[in-house]
Amino acid sequence: MSRLTHDEILGWLRETSPSRLERLFAQADQVRRDHVGDAVHLRGLIEISSYCARQCHYCGLRAARSMPRYRMTREEIMKCVRQAGLLGFGTVVMQAGEDFGIEAEWLAEIIRAIKAETPLAVTLSLGERLPDELRLWRQAGADRYLLRFETSNPALYAAIHPRRGAAVSDRVSLLRELRAIGYEIGSGVMTGIPGQTYEMLARDIELFEALDLDMIGIGPFLAHPDTPLGAQSAAIIDEDQVPSNEWMVLKAVALTRIVCPEANLPATTALATINTVDGREHGLESGANVFMPVLTPAPYRQMYEIYPGKACVDEDATQCNHCLRGRIQRLGRSVGVGPGGRAKGFLKQGQSLPEEPISSSRTDALSQFVVLR
Ligand code: SAM
Ligand code: SF4
Repeated sequence: MSRLTHDEILGWLRETSPSRLERLFAQADQVRRDHVGDAVHLRGLIEISSYCARQCHYCGLRAARSMPRYRMTREEIMKCVRQAGLLGFGTVVMQAGEDFGIEAEWLAEIIRAIKAETPLAVTLSLGERLPDELRLWRQAGADRYLLRFETSNPALYAAIHPRRGAAVSDRVSLLRELRAIGYEIGSGVMTGIPGQTYEMLARDIELFEALDLDMIGIGPFLAHPDTPLGAQSAAIIDEDQVPSNEWMVLKAVALTRIVCPEANLPATTALATINTVDGREHGLESGANVFMPVLTPAPYRQMYEIYPGKACVDEDATQCNHCLRGRIQRLGRSVGVGPGGRAKGFLKQGQSLPEEPISSSRTDALSQFVVLR
């Protein structure tokens, strides 16, 4: 059963009072503590290929962009995997554009090698691959699959995520299929996509709950000037348009933690990109419990340019690991040990939610009342 009604979620997404929002974040932090504990899990991200067959209107890897691309070799990937083990991470995430040059059996063999050599959990994030391929990788030992549905609104989805040829693109159905195959499933959205309204974002959060997701990634939309949406975003002035700022991400993360208390929620790199100083900490204090340090070797990490100015792109994996562990310790949290799958073992506790936010019209009415008196 939902812990927040649709109108409550919508009210909180529109809330602007810093003191009231601090109470929402504190509530989400408490729910996080009760359900997944203080551990922050480190997932080493290996961006294995920047080739992509799709034309997503938001993404710097879209096929239409002419730029140097790479696909890592088996040896390069295994080197990153061993580094993940040495750095004490519990999971490796292999991510890429929708690259059909990544052959199913080639990757299956790498997954088998990782599972044979290490105790690491393996997460895949390779786009909309065929059910047979997804099944093969699961049989090879992959544990989790990340596929953001980007928006629950069909019209916005169709506008920003064109089909690949004649193939239907239905990420929500594919997530259900991934679960049936046996993966832990992760999804997520960007906040502030041009054309995204508060109503749509509230529905996204409700869909997270309906899908009973194991992992949920939420980050700001960051305009890439060489994409259709990047060129469009500067022109938006609409009061229903969700902004692409840190507060918006933190509100969405906090509400998601409250409605999906057991899920693993990363403080995303995109959040760290809009606030390089302490965006990651703010994420952890608003309900998040995962960091995803990048293991991709230079110069590939510079070439995996989803959006410009990505945080930490010039740091190597050792520096990144050191920096993130310091941030976790300064918050009084601990670094997670082991794979850190979904925390089903935590006993759910009754939660008293913060009181309903006052809508701006109610605030206006109240201030008028005070003036009149
Ligand atoms: N190709 C795979 C896929 O689409 O699922 C995985 C890689 S893709 C780059 C990972 C995620 O990056 C997308 O799901 C999207 O949410 C995010 N992303 C893409 N472009 C972005 C942008 N301009 N700003 C913020 N996030 C973006
Ligand atoms: Fe390709 Fe994923 Fe970027 Fe879409 S979001 S263009 S599928 S890498």
